[in-house]
Amino acid sequence: MSTNAWLRERATRTAFVRRSVSKFMPGERLEDALAAAADQERQGIGTILTKLGENLTRVEDAEEVTRHYLDVLDKVKAAGLRAHISVKPTQLGLDLDKELCSENLQRLVDRAEARDNFVWIDMESSPYVDTTLDLFRRARATSPLVGIALQAYLYRTAQDVESLIPLGAAIRMVKGAYLEPPSIAYPKKADVDENFYRLSCRLLADDARRRGSLLHIATHDASLVDRLAAFIDQHKVPPTAYEYAMLYGIQRPLQQRLVRAGRPLRVLIAYGEYWFPWYMRRLAERPANVWFVIKNILA
Ligand SMILES: Cc1cc2nc3c(=O)[nH]c(=O)nc-3n(C[C@H](O)[C@H](O)[C@H](O)COP(=O)(O)OP(=O)(O)OC[C@H]3O[C@@H](n4cnc5c(N)ncnc54)[C@H](O)[C@@H]3O)c2cc1C
Repeated sequence: MSTNAWLRERATRTAFVRRSVSKFMPGERLEDALAAAADQERQGIGTILTKLGENLTRVEDAEEVTRHYLDVLDKVKAAGLRAHISVKPTQLGLDLDKELCSENLQRLVDRAEARDNFVWIDMESSPYVDTTLDLFRRARATSPLVGIALQAYLYRTAQDVESLIPLGAAIRMVKGAYLEPPSIAYPKKADVDENFYRLSCRLLADDARRRGSLLHIATHDASLVDRLAAFIDQHKVPPTAYEYAMLYGIQRPLQQRLVRAGRPLRVLIAYGEYWFPWYMRRLAERPANVWFVIKNILA
């Protein structure tokens, strides 16, 4: 459903869908996201801002997205916020021209350097993984202020982690949000969870940390959150080496528990008009969310 244009066209106009998406998104405008970021900071939570959209097909659109993020970096600095940005390579023109995408990414990384900020690169579906890693390596060669998401559901990720450790890379570990075949991804959730734990421990190990690696533990899975907290305490991992990362509006009690325990936490705040595919993936992650939508229809 996330890729169905007909449904997107109609569903995004209905009031009940708009009401239920507000659970995960403070609003469509950048100003809504900045206001939410300021509010999160008052609660001791850092943020990551992302403008929804993917698979752009026109050079002008990729340019517009790049300029938008340059402006976000300026506005975040002006507002004195602790808010990173997170971008999808296909938003920066990857489907059109890899070189163009790389240049756009570099413009963002350069601006992040100038504004004392940080750029995260989202990982999209499996055909993009190699190119995204290549884009990351090129940008990382110019600045440490760029990080990449890796997906624990892919068999290949263990090798990717090993290859990135010598760079002292900043890595956001996620389970993975796309539908991938069992030939390349663990079909069983328990195996994905275990791989997430194993790879996160690898990135928190002494030798990885000595190289300067930073780990974003990006999950709402309370069991993984607690298991990794135990690992962190046992191995005396400093709070500069890791952060928990969650999505705005999801598992708030768990977020509050982490803040109370003094754990570093960021929430990713999404905004923009093109929220339908992203929203569908959030529904797919948790059947209870579909009931939430149905309740909104009845309301
Ligand atoms: C900061 C951040 C960045 C991300 N970046 C990427 C990326 O670049 N590429 C990518 O492929 N994926 C990305 N993801 C998505 C990720 O891959 C998972 O699809 C998503 O986080 C759900 O998995 P989970 O780890 O939370 O665990 P799950 O096992 O799916 O969920 C554990 C528990 O968390 C709660 N939960 C999880 N999802 C929801 C939800 N939507 N609504 C309500 N409760 C929920 C439920 O209580 C559930 O039982 C990102 C996630 C986060 C938090």
